[in-house]
Amino acid sequence: MITNLIGGRLSSWSMKSTKLHTPVLVLDAGFQPVNVVPVRRAMILLCKGKAVAVEESEQQLHSAQRAWKMPVIIRLLISVAHRVYRVVRVKLNRRNLFGRDRYRCQYCGDEEGPFTIDHVVPKSRKTPSYPGGGPTTWENCVTACIPCNRRKGGQLLSETDMRLQHVPREPHWLPPVLFQRFLKPSLHPSWNDYLFNGN
Ligand SMILES: [Zn+2]
Repeated sequence: MITNLIGGRLSSWSMKSTKLHTPVLVLDAGFQPVNVVPVRRAMILLCKGKAVAVEESEQQLHSAQRAWKMPVIIRLLISVAHRVYRVVRVKLNRRNLFGRDRYRCQYCGDEEGPFTIDHVVPKSRKTPSYPGGGPTTWENCVTACIPCNRRKGGQLLSETDMRLQHVPREPHWLPPVLFQRFLKPSLHPSWNDYLFNGN
């Protein structure tokens, strides 16, 4: 049982608590996937008018006043998209970095792994741009296979014949590959239309 203020009145939603954690795909105003949130959070965004449902399931969520269809996919409205985007800013960690790079070595294109995080400007090298050594940032870290990481070692790119396949940047939304862990048969197949269409 959870409670939330809806339309000025306190309503109660009763569901099995596990259902409150059912993942809902969140799209931005341009239909790009930006996050996955528990259904509880999705309902709050819908009830506050900050999002609209794109897909709903037949399962229902009951409040004292009415029944709601469970959202499967919601879309943020333009007026809040930017603010919510900032809240879900992608954290730099191994999983998210490998996801951004689609689990490919950014030097040789290897897709097998295992992978490591390579600092493009090594931590040990001081450059005019990085007087304290290469930082651990989205712009200075890439996915590399172990042979490429060893080959590059403590060198700057300009000191090697290695080249990056993509300019590393902070992702603007969660990379689609990161949603794959949610793609279990129990989840709605309509997610696929947004996660893998053109990405
Ligand atoms: Zn490689």
